[in-house]
Amino acid sequence: MSQHEHVRVAVIGSGFGGLGAAVRLRREGVTDFVVLERADSVGGTWRDNSYPGCACDVPSHLYSFSFAPNPDWPRTFSGQQHIRAYLEHVADTFRLRSHIRLNHEVLMMRWDRDELRWEIETSRGTLTADVVVSATGPLSDPKIPEIPGLADFPGKVFHSARWDHDYDLRGKRVAMIGTGASAIQIVPAIQPEAAHVTLFQRTPPWVLPRMDRAISGPERWLHRQLPFTGAARRGLLWGIRELQVSAFTKRPNELGLIESIAKRNMSRSIKDPALRAKLTPSYRIGCKRILLSSEYYPALARPNVDVVASGLAEVRGSTVVAADGTETEADAIIFGTGFHVTDLPIAERVVGADGITLAEAWKDGMESLRGATAAGFPNWMTIIGPNTGLGNSSMILMIESQLNYLAGYMRQLNVLGERAALAVRPSAVGAWNRRVQERMERTVWKSGGCNSWYLDANGRNTTLWPGTTGEFRKATREVDLAEYEVVRMPVGTAKSAEAAETAEVVR
Ligand SMILES: Cc1cc2nc3c(=O)[nH]c(=O)nc-3n(C[C@H](O)[C@H](O)[C@H](O)COP(=O)(O)OP(=O)(O)OC[C@H]3O[C@@H](n4cnc5c(N)ncnc54)[C@H](O)[C@@H]3O)c2cc1C
Repeated sequence: MSQHEHVRVAVIGSGFGGLGAAVRLRREGVTDFVVLERADSVGGTWRDNSYPGCACDVPSHLYSFSFAPNPDWPRTFSGQQHIRAYLEHVADTFRLRSHIRLNHEVLMMRWDRDELRWEIETSRGTLTADVVVSATGPLSDPKIPEIPGLADFPGKVFHSARWDHDYDLRGKRVAMIGTGASAIQIVPAIQPEAAHVTLFQRTPPWVLPRMDRAISGPERWLHRQLPFTGAARRGLLWGIRELQVSAFTKRPNELGLIESIAKRNMSRSIKDPALRAKLTPSYRIGCKRILLSSEYYPALARPNVDVVASGLAEVRGSTVVAADGTETEADAIIFGTGFHVTDLPIAERVVGADGITLAEAWKDGMESLRGATAAGFPNWMTIIGPNTGLGNSSMILMIESQLNYLAGYMRQLNVLGERAALAVRPSAVGAWNRRVQERMERTVWKSGGCNSWYLDANGRNTTLWPGTTGEFRKATREVDLAEYEVVRMPVGTAKSAEAAETAEVVR
């Protein structure tokens, strides 16, 4: 990268969000863009999470781009390798490779008020961009809790999202920390080979059976020959999930039926009443993410697996100590403890128009307009920003809605000309978030009696969308200019500090 190369758009990240943004920009006729990716290949989540058993928990025909259908998904819930291969295929099919800069970690971004552009410092040099699309993902920076004594543990330690494939788990005593979506896939996958698995569970999850099966040859043939059958399948999967939303967002009492299915899923495999008691959640289903597995409970019933109903508190040499005092000897500790979701590391690396970082602007909680733009950060847009997460459906639906918004944003900017930027009005952000938080009050995430990673340090749910994906699609169809200030540099003015002083906000 040459010093201070300038592009119209810099996209950060090459997961579903970043690659989707790249496809959409090209479709909008924007070709002057780069995709900056810190890793050495594309794929985001599906590159980083290669742990045994890793798979999606939303059916593949819905968990993929509508504009890039894959008739050849091998399973209803495809595994990590197939999803990763799909994203590589998207990068090739849509000819994105020439835009992608691998091994380019974004270290810092600063809004240049004089030039109305972003200065982006990467691990391979600096560039500038009129617009930044931040698609760094809400689940991309692993979180390992601070545990006294962990640094002195003589065995192997790693996070589920950074699996060490060189470490052989055969015959090892493994302490698995956490019972989230990754842990419940890992335990059944490693139980057959490990000498012993001790699962440290702070809170038991609700687990529904996963209707996973191979997609038959004739089905795939049909989807290849008659693409509308794949689209119909996707439509059905989408519709079923849309119908479930009101139970999560308005009528949590209706979730009782699903609780009974989850209890049956457990009692089928867990015959020991004491273990069943440990594994039975005391909060309403849906309050934390509902997990899908038909292998988790059978694995927990195996003689080489123990469940400690307490979190990890301390490590003393090779002894792993739970908060309730239970001590376990371990050769390896695997953290399935999630990600920095409400304290996004990228927010520390963005300095906006007022000279403060996004992390400082969000010190009381993440806030944006329509999950995309943040007050004080002109021409900066997030894909899967605040309150865009889903409890029961495919994040690709939300990503595609945000791509529509991005397209609308670029169209508005093009009309305004190169010497203009859009700065979202704080009042618009405030109004949007008041509506979102009002709706949040009635949701199971707020009233279900649990503490989850959906909530920030202040107990506010700044991660999930409290509505249907259809509602979000409608809310992001167009960019409403009334929600933005247009910041302009006078025509004919040299791009200089002097120009900045005369840069005006057109209200
Ligand atoms: C194990 C697992 C399973 C999941 N299963 C599902 C599922 O079944 N259904 C569902 O809807 N969702 C699922 N999700 C959520 C998933 O994260 C999203 O669906 C989606 O993949 C997010 O895509 P993204 O592009 O926004 O982020 P990511 O895929 O996380 O990509 C972000 C990219 O940004 C890069 N990046 C980050 N910081 C920088 C930086 N400073 N500089 C340069 N590059 C940077 C990262 O390296 C990464 O490549 C799952 C998540 C995990 C972790």
